[in-house]
Amino acid sequence: MDASNRYQWRAHTSPVNAQWPAVPSLLEDEIISSWLVRCALKHGCEPTTLTNDVWPGHRIWCSDPDRCLSPERLKVLSDLSGMTPESLQASTLMPVCRSITGDACFAQGTELWFLCLGVRNRRRCGGLQYCPRCFAEDEPYYRIQGRLAWHTCCPIHKVILLDRCESCHAPLCPHLVKPPQEDIGHCHRCAAALSKAIVQPESPDAAAFQAATDRLFGGYTQQYGNVQLDLCAWFELAHWMLGILRSAVRSANPCISCFFENLQVNLDTLHQPPTGLRFELLSPVERANLLSDVWKMISAGPERLISAATQYTIRSSLLMPRSCRMPVALDGLASVLQARQRGMSGHIHPDTPRSPASVLMRWNRLLRKFQR
Ligand SMILES: [Zn+2]
Ligand SMILES: [Zn+2]
Repeated sequence: MDASNRYQWRAHTSPVNAQWPAVPSLLEDEIISSWLVRCALKHGCEPTTLTNDVWPGHRIWCSDPDRCLSPERLKVLSDLSGMTPESLQASTLMPVCRSITGDACFAQGTELWFLCLGVRNRRRCGGLQYCPRCFAEDEPYYRIQGRLAWHTCCPIHKVILLDRCESCHAPLCPHLVKPPQEDIGHCHRCAAALSKAIVQPESPDAAAFQAATDRLFGGYTQQYGNVQLDLCAWFELAHWMLGILRSAVRSANPCISCFFENLQVNLDTLHQPPTGLRFELLSPVERANLLSDVWKMISAGPERLISAATQYTIRSSLLMPRSCRMPVALDGLASVLQARQRGMSGHIHPDTPRSPASVLMRWNRLLRKFQR
């Protein structure tokens, strides 16, 4: 997406024959929860009051309202608001999920590549992002992009997105904004104008990864070495790279550092996020740091990666973690590692002895098993 094509996921849609007296249009790329809150504020009521009226007994704000709405619930909302069920459905994350996984429903819990709200009752831990400059220029609203984990910057203003109020550090909870506020652009807790937050410039490499990924949703492919990757293969490769980057930071040694230096990645500047949480729960800055290195690794190409892995004899457990499949795009690396394992008669020795802390952790786990 660039400035000349500001919407990517869905176009502006206006209501027709609405029963409600004041229905705002669905703005470009607007996510459905943002529009529901703006509907409520336009009618001078709290979002919960409006949604209780639409779906009595359904506590929509205690779950993730952007993931999907059943056809029955969409029909009720469509009748009241004058928006077609199709335009409402297009404002959820469902079409994006279908493009990535091929499934028309989300997995329970965290879904790869979708930010997690961390909902507890109506409170959240994060999972929604915005651009202060966009909020300052137009009517504030949240975009579908604000829920996607590979989005860390605004392609129009070239700044890092924010996922909390800069004044009080509260996670963004627009569904808790209530009258007398008339728009969604204020913090629910301290009422600070979110458009006033200080912005940081984007990470160019993370922005490049974001733009390349977005292009794949248009049915294009992305070149990696001699191979053209489609959306699934691209995400598989990026997920694997994120995994090995985070493992490498935990168990860095000179060989691993040289391997990554060969791919233009400086492990010394990459810090493990202090929470150690999974990618979909990290802040925009933490994700931008990781994705920036993923972009460098992708740009280096598969041949360089395989040759560096061979040159520095990187252990298989780092490059073939049990938690993640080896990407199809790196079949060549899998063959090299398997051949090396056979050469070692199946015995794999780590590059360096484990640290005392790591041994202690393993010992404690073993004791815990015996104590069952
Ligand atoms: Zn912006
Ligand atoms: Zn605040």
